Amino acid sequence: MEKDLLNLDEFEVISLEENDNGDYLFNVKPKSPTMVCPECGSVSVVNNGTYNRLARDLNCYEHKVGINIMGNRHKCRDCGITFCDTYKSIETNAKVTVRLKTKICELATKRPFLQIAEEYGITMPTVKRIFMEYVEAEEKKRVLYSPTVLGIDEAHLNKTMRGVIIDVKARRVIELLDTRSKNRVMEYFNSLPNSDKIKIVTMDMWRPYAEAVYECLPNAKIVIDRFHVVKALNVALDNVRKSITSEISGRGSRANVRNLRYLLLSNFEDLNPDQAQELDDMLDRNETLNKAYTLKEGLRNIYLCKTRKEAENLYKSWVKEIPDDLSEFQTVRKMVDNWHTEIFNFFDCEGYTNGITECLNNLIKIIERYGRGYNFEVLRAKIMFTTSATKPAKYAFKKSTAKRASGPTNDSYGFSIGGMMPDITYQEYKESKVLEIGSGVDMDELATILDMGEF
Ligand SMILES: [Zn+2]
Repeated sequence: MEKDLLNLDEFEVISLEENDNGDYLFNVKPKSPTMVCPECGSVSVVNNGTYNRLARDLNCYEHKVGINIMGNRHKCRDCGITFCDTYKSIETNAKVTVRLKTKICELATKRPFLQIAEEYGITMPTVKRIFMEYVEAEEKKRVLYSPTVLGIDEAHLNKTMRGVIIDVKARRVIELLDTRSKNRVMEYFNSLPNSDKIKIVTMDMWRPYAEAVYECLPNAKIVIDRFHVVKALNVALDNVRKSITSEISGRGSRANVRNLRYLLLSNFEDLNPDQAQELDDMLDRNETLNKAYTLKEGLRNIYLCKTRKEAENLYKSWVKEIPDDLSEFQTVRKMVDNWHTEIFNFFDCEGYTNGITECLNNLIKIIERYGRGYNFEVLRAKIMFTTSATKPAKYAFKKSTAKRASGPTNDSYGFSIGGMMPDITYQEYKESKVLEIGSGVDMDELATILDMGEF
């Protein structure tokens, strides 16, 4: 019988209507009205009229489904309140059934809200509200923590720069901030438990980040990653190239210009012998470009230094090499001077930041590409909570050195592994649980998921 299509056994289907659009409406009654007072638990309740509710349910084949629940209102004789029937399959005040809600949460991570709204005959705000409720629940499960090495960078989303926070060692995104203002970043740092555990903060040269770190995290050292310094060098070199391109690329085809740019901005060690020769010929023909190129590679070489002292000395001689009229590199010098401490901290903290900044940069590009048109709140929720890249907190169990007295005692729960008596009590075991790493999103997995468009 068609009525059985509903398949919610707490309801008796009275009738099924189909409108011109082919939408189904099931008129139903609860099989067993609620006869216990939710306030005082009394069973002395009397009928107090009817209470109809309309809800959306999962589609039935191609038909949208509405349920008209013809329920009852009751009055408690003991405490005097009136109340309505409650149901397993639909929460009080909900506009959709529990199973549709579950379905919406599942779909909302992969498809636009509007599409889901249209498919189920509900409004977009309803889809969004259901999704955000789910997010709120996930948010509560999240374990915040302070990583030893924290990375902070930015992503351009919805016309605004947003802060991206990562755990450098664990390669996890741990937060996306709606703005990268000093106040917002400070608020974030202050929300972290045990923030004195943060020893190193890696970042780009963005003063508000640095100020927030110095004010909130006195134990942390700021490190400007090599990646950002080299990026600034490449920008300077490229500006020099642009200013003299007409001079050097006589025939000046677009391909030539692109090739020149590629040769200049690549790391020298990454060029093949032919390319190196080509670059060499070109630099031979233009003295300014040659000087600029030498300066770029020269400052890059500082990163081969083993100690801070060595690097600082090399930098001093590098500065002397900059011609006064090469303003692009005078700008780089000013930048390095402004961030001297933080840039050279790199040499005291080597190994902590290696490679991660570049990887993060690629991830941010993917997020920016993907996130176009998304409201930030929703995008953050999707990234933080809805993919398999999201990982729960991990705990470590310290091995107690205190050997248990022989034989089971009252304070022991006597749990055993392979028949061996454990050497710690249950209480000790519970207390030894130490948070190793909090919740976060695996950067590499997230990049793969986004790249495949499975989002
Ligand atoms: Zn009552």
